[in-house]
Amino acid sequence: MISKERLTDMFARMREFSGPGDGPGVYRLAFTDADWQARSYLIGLMREVGLAVREDAFGNVVGRWEGAEPSLPAVIFGSHCDSVPNGGNYDGVLGILAAIETVRSLKEEGFHPEHSLEVALFMCEESSRFGAATLGSRAMLGELTVDDVRRLKDKEGVTLYDALKGRGLAPDALGKPLYEGDVKAFFEVHIEQGKVLEHEKKSVGVVTGIAAPTRFRVKLTGNADHSGATPMSLRHDAACAAAEIVLAAERLAAAEKEPPAVATVGVLQIAPGVMNVIPGSAELGVDIRSIDAGTKTRVAENLKAAVSEICGRRGVASEIVPISDERPVAIRPSVQDFLEGVCREDGCSYMRLPSGAGHDAMHWAERVSTGMLFIPCRDGVSHNPDEYAAPEDIANVVRLLEKVVREASKKKVTFA
Ligand SMILES: [Zn+2]
Repeated sequence: MISKERLTDMFARMREFSGPGDGPGVYRLAFTDADWQARSYLIGLMREVGLAVREDAFGNVVGRWEGAEPSLPAVIFGSHCDSVPNGGNYDGVLGILAAIETVRSLKEEGFHPEHSLEVALFMCEESSRFGAATLGSRAMLGELTVDDVRRLKDKEGVTLYDALKGRGLAPDALGKPLYEGDVKAFFEVHIEQGKVLEHEKKSVGVVTGIAAPTRFRVKLTGNADHSGATPMSLRHDAACAAAEIVLAAERLAAAEKEPPAVATVGVLQIAPGVMNVIPGSAELGVDIRSIDAGTKTRVAENLKAAVSEICGRRGVASEIVPISDERPVAIRPSVQDFLEGVCREDGCSYMRLPSGAGHDAMHWAERVSTGMLFIPCRDGVSHNPDEYAAPEDIANVVRLLEKVVREASKKKVTFA
C-alpha cells in the first residue's frame, strides 16, 4: 500500500539537501554538493526497495525491476531532483519519490511485472545553473553532444563538461543514446506549476501536451519629439504603438480556444524614458505558447501582422527579431485515454489540461508512448520557497501511478 507517512518522511529528507544559498527555499542546483547528496540518497532508496541501479555518462540514474520477460521493452517512470535557487521541495521531487514509493508498494503487494519496470532520475532538468533545461533526458536520448557540454557554463565560468568530470562522469561519451533498449512507455508525475487544477477543484490532471515557446523581440522606432510642443496629431509615439501591441497579443492568444494559446509581453522598454520627451523607441519581448504548433504559429503570425498594421497607422518603424521557436509536444491520445481510464476507475476528480512548463517527459513523448499526471500546487506557486502540494494529493497521485505502472507492465496492455 502507498504510505503517506513514508512519503512525508522522504519529502522531509529531500528538503535537507540544500545549499549553499541565501534566503529561504531549496538550493539544489545541478551537480552541486546538495544535488549530488540528494542523488545518493535516492540511489540508496532505489537499492532499499530492491532495484538494480545503474548510471550513465551524464549521471542519470536508472533503477531496474526485471520483469518476467526481461527482453520486453521497459516501462520507465521518474523525474528530476535538482531545483532552481530559492526553489521548492516538490518540483521534480514528487515524480521521483512517487516512482520509488510505487515500486515499494508493488513489491509489498507481491506484484510481478511482465515488462521490466525502471525508475529514472534525470540530472540537470532546471536551466538555472547552465542556462539550458532537461539536459539529463536529452543526454539519455543522445540529443546532447560533447560540444554542447563544453559550451554550457555556469555563472562562475565552470563548464558543464568540467562539472561532469568533477563528479567522475564521462562527458566524452555523450552524443549517442545513453539509454539502451526499447521503451514501452514513459510516465512522469509532477506538480502543475499553475492554477488550473486548484481553480477547477480537481485533484489530478491528465496532461494533453507540453507547450513550447516561440519568442521574438519587437523593436519600434518613432520620433522622440518635445512633449509640450508636439500636437497629438503629429506624433509618432513608440510607447503608444507598444501599448497597442501588448493588447493585440492578449486578444489574439485569448481568441484561441481549443487548443488554447498564451501570449505574454514580459519585457517592455521605452526610451528615452523622460517625462518631457515623447517615447522615440520601444522594445518588447514576446513569448507565445501552445501545445499545438499550428495554433502557436497562427498567433505569432497574426501578431506580426498586427504589429505591421499598428505601426503603419502610427508612422512608427518596426523590426521583428526572432529569439527562439521551439516545438510543442503532443501526448498521444491513446495514453491520455489510458490515464483517464485509470482516474475514472479510481473515482478521483480529474480533468485534462495542457502543460505550460517544459518537462523531461517532452523528450520521451516524441519517441515513445508518454503520459503525465499533474497534481495541484497551492496558488499555482512553483520555483519558489512557498511551493506546496497537499499530502493527500500526493498520496492520491502515487496511488494512481501505482495503478498506471501495474497496468502498463502487463503484456496485454498496449499503446497505439
Ligand atoms: Zn520539474
